[in-house]
Amino acid sequence: MKRIARLFGWLTLLIAVPAIAATPDVAALSPPALSALTRAFPKGGELHLHLSGAVYGESFIKWAAEDGRCIDTDALSIEQPPCAGKLKPAAEAQADLDLYHAMLDSFSVRHPGFRDRSGHDQFFSTFSRFSFGRSRRGDGLAEVMDRAAAQNTFYLELMAFGGPQTLGPLVNAAPGDVNDFPALKASLSAAGLEKLTADMVAETDAMEARARTVMACGTPAARPGCQVTVRYLAFASRNAPAKITFAQIQLGVAMTRADPRFVGVQVLTPEDDPVAVANYALVARMFDFLSDHGRSAPLALHAGELTLAVATPEALRDHVAQAFRVSGARRIGHGTDIAHEDGAEALAREMAAAKVLVEVNLSSNAAILQVKGADHPYGWLRARDVPVSLSTDDPGVSRTDLSTEYALAVRYGADYAALKASARNALAFSFLAGDGLWADPGAYRTPAASCRGQIGRAEPAGACAALIAASDKAREQWRHEALLARFEADLP
Ligand SMILES: [Zn+2]
Repeated sequence: MKRIARLFGWLTLLIAVPAIAATPDVAALSPPALSALTRAFPKGGELHLHLSGAVYGESFIKWAAEDGRCIDTDALSIEQPPCAGKLKPAAEAQADLDLYHAMLDSFSVRHPGFRDRSGHDQFFSTFSRFSFGRSRRGDGLAEVMDRAAAQNTFYLELMAFGGPQTLGPLVNAAPGDVNDFPALKASLSAAGLEKLTADMVAETDAMEARARTVMACGTPAARPGCQVTVRYLAFASRNAPAKITFAQIQLGVAMTRADPRFVGVQVLTPEDDPVAVANYALVARMFDFLSDHGRSAPLALHAGELTLAVATPEALRDHVAQAFRVSGARRIGHGTDIAHEDGAEALAREMAAAKVLVEVNLSSNAAILQVKGADHPYGWLRARDVPVSLSTDDPGVSRTDLSTEYALAVRYGADYAALKASARNALAFSFLAGDGLWADPGAYRTPAASCRGQIGRAEPAGACAALIAASDKAREQWRHEALLARFEADLP
């Protein structure tokens, strides 16, 4: 009887766990209380993050000063030495506070109307003024990893490489017509395109080694950022000549085979660029062909980052639909204009059924497109069960961080369950290798069979331990669930 009572006690405890899980009323919190909560909240990971746009202007100026680079005092940009005429040594910019603050304005959208530029033009033009310098990429990576860890977040899927500088000459020397995909692919392979993967692997190795040095990883002084797992998306530029875009996609797909750190392929540069608009359908078909509709390499594609202020009604009709239906994208970056697409309700239903996730970037959309508040489709997508995950896009340019985006999401109508779904989605819909910890990604009611009754514990046992040992994805999800359980246990 005693044993039965004890068994019954255990059963009620097990059954009671979900019922007592804390669900704070985040909408009722004051802004400071909400900031404190979203900063401590384990946000799982970030799926939409550009490495160069993630670095804050203060760091670019500091590195430019240390590296003897110059500031163009007219354009407010970082330039190569020698520093003469309007080019001042960057070290002087740090001492000249007027210039220093003007540089920070120049590298971000913090000063609306700066130099009479629209938010869109200011945002996209910043990238030409804060040249990174390949030698400082590892410093940038360290900054981004440390910042994630400081926000209780331990997975990043970064857009970092579009191919080495030798790509252009190789492509231009290879014969081929962009309307004959099989022949062009064979021609680029014959010219040695896939061999360039070795350069990208070496570049990634050097960047990561530098980041580990900066963070003192493997020493007693190791910074928290050392605990962050990073994977990469190779990218193609949609405003490049079509043959270059094709070669970048082909190389990106090859990278996912050559290096397990590269887990998928993206497409970058402003979607409203005239070349990008003219080539949109062609590039969508390139992705379909070169990735076997996302089967041989997962695709996450920027699509629908448009409004009528920057593009025609025709461009707003089907960019998300093409990325999903034609290319085979598993994730959509932004999707801001989705409700303006042809058959938007049917498209959302299809995406929900196919579990295609939208990477939502609230601050970026507000700054570039002026789409904010009730105009933003964040709530519309959730109401239609389209999976979403919050991300920062270019937090250095937007002067934001992931915690701030989670707090902003609450002002856009998210409750605690929505924040938790966003955080879990950042791992379940990542392109990490291996089986997941959940049988129902997006809903999170049913753990994988081998882990039932274990999620949230400190250590996995039995078959669950075997799953986690064999799967990058399950390992990151396990770590996240343990953090979530501890966070919720500590809630008042
Ligand atoms: Zn982006």
